[in-house]
Formats: sequence, C-alpha cells, structure tokens
Amino acid sequence: MKRLLALALAALVLSGCAVSTTTSVPTVPAQVPTPGGAATAAAGAPPAAEQCPDLLASPRPLTPMPAPGQMPAGSTMAKIAQRGKLVVGVDQNTLNMGFRDPFSGQIQGFDIDMARAVAQALFGNPDAIQLRALTSDQRIPALQHGDVDMVVRTMTITCDRRQQVTFSSEYYEAQQRILVKKNSGISGPDQLAGKRVCATKGSTSLATLQALPQKPVTVSVADWTDCLVLLQQGQLDAVSTDDVILAGMAAQDRYTEVVGASLAAEPYGIALPKGDVEMARFVNGVLDRVRASGTWAASYQHWLFGLLPGPVPAPPAPQYQD
Ligand code: GLU
Repeated sequence: MKRLLALALAALVLSGCAVSTTTSVPTVPAQVPTPGGAATAAAGAPPAAEQCPDLLASPRPLTPMPAPGQMPAGSTMAKIAQRGKLVVGVDQNTLNMGFRDPFSGQIQGFDIDMARAVAQALFGNPDAIQLRALTSDQRIPALQHGDVDMVVRTMTITCDRRQQVTFSSEYYEAQQRILVKKNSGISGPDQLAGKRVCATKGSTSLATLQALPQKPVTVSVADWTDCLVLLQQGQLDAVSTDDVILAGMAAQDRYTEVVGASLAAEPYGIALPKGDVEMARFVNGVLDRVRASGTWAASYQHWLFGLLPGPVPAPPAPQYQD
C-alpha cells in the first residue's frame, strides 16, 4: 500500500513537473460556434412530394413586348415603372450566382444579370433596381407580403411552390450534389448514412436529404455560407445543394470538392406573386430575349464557365402553357 502511494505521488510530481516545465500554452476546451438558428434533425418520413404534370409550363410571352417606359395601364409593370425601381429578392452569399463583391460592395452574379435584364426591359436601365438579400426560407414570404416584386435566387420550380407563387419559364437547370472535404472517403449519396449533412432551411436540398433512404443527420442553417463554415470547422461531413452553389464553395476552399451523382434536377425559375399572369408573360418575354440575344450565354461565360465542368451549355428551352 505504501509503495502504491509512493508511486502515485511520484506520478503526480512528474506530471506536475511536465506541466510546469512546458512552454506551450495550456489548452482550453474550444467553444465550437454554430450559426444562429442552426438545427439538427435525424431524417424522418418526408412529406409526400406533390406531382404536377406541366411543372415547367409558364404563361406565354407578351406579344408585342411593351417598350421601356410604355407599360400597359393598370399592369404590375406600370406600377413598378411609376415607383422608378424594380425590387428583387436575391442571394448575397452564393459566389457567382448572387454574391456581394467585397471590393465594390455590389451584389452581382448570374441571377443578378437575369434580374437586371428585367429592369432594362421596364426602364431601359439595368440599374433601376433595388436588390434585397433573402435567405432560402424568406423567398416565398417576401413575395407574399409584397416586400419584393420578384425573386431571382437559385429557386427551384416545384409543385408545392407553384401553389404559392407564379414561376417564369425555366432559366437554368442545376443538379443537387454533395460537397465534402477532399479525402473524406465520401464519394456519393450512398455514403451519407448517419453522416452530418448541411442545407439551408426552406430549400429543396434539405427536403431531398431528409427523404434519402440512407438517413443522414441533417443540419439546417440560414445561408449557404453557414454550411461552408461548419464544414471547415469539422462540424459536418458534407454540404448538399445545387451544383452551381457548391461549385462556388469549392472555389472558395480548395480543400473541398463536389462528388457523386445528381440527387435531383433543380430547374430554376423567377418567382412572381401568385396569379400575376401579365407580369409572368412580361418576364417570360424578357427571358426569351435573354436566351436569343446571347445575353444568357455571355452571363454564363462570365460567371459560371470554368466554375462548372464542360463548355457553355445552351439555355433551357422554355415551355409555355396555352
Ligand atoms: N434550388 C434549391 C431551392 O430552391 C436550393 C437553393 C437555395 O435554396 O438557395 O430550394
């Protein structure tokens, strides 16, 4: 017993010595910060996805298109013209789609070019625009409350959303994929069982993750950049959303990569207040011009070429309802 006590004392003295002679800073348990409102959920039964046959069909463009400054009396376009600015809900966190340039302070990107084309058609001036930064789950409420005239923010056309807003024709087709740290060992959706995977609240990405048979643990946040920071901090195994959003993250962090097959096609539309068919016809006329004039290809070339694999694609062909 005495010997044991002596040994224990010796060990204590030794360990005490080790601490007192070391020059390293004592380690304090790091507090792991999480973005406000972040929530974790185990995958549960997803709500049954609604089906609609003509998902991408949108009102036919106005013919002829009114010239800038000559909007039909009583139309939404005339009201916006009278106000002097088009108010658009956008993203400010997604590199090259809708992001704030740190040097100029301006929000720019592919989505912003689409929004500016509508301002150009209304006013003859692409700068007659006010951009309001929205998170994924603020998009539909902002339209419903009349805070914005339209939303151009990596927004997928879905059946559920079509109950709440009116969509333009499709102007971009993304694919949901996965972003991981390089050498993570995760190469696709099959490896996501029990893994912590991030997506924003109110996004189709989150709903798709929660419906996966592999049952990842989903972490939901406000902005896509919150997901990237959590991944960098080691609080996640993966981020999953549209390839075009993930490509922007991978460009900001060369220790990350996009992997695996598509989890879902994500056709983007410009969202308008529900039932405003005339405005939808006007916006579709603008998008037709954007596709035909080479503006679409020039914008892709400027923002997305090189970020995404492959050459500049053709814009998606619009589908119209009769
Ligand atoms: N396209 C998906 C959506 O509309 C994800 C992108 C996002 O939320 O920003 O929900």
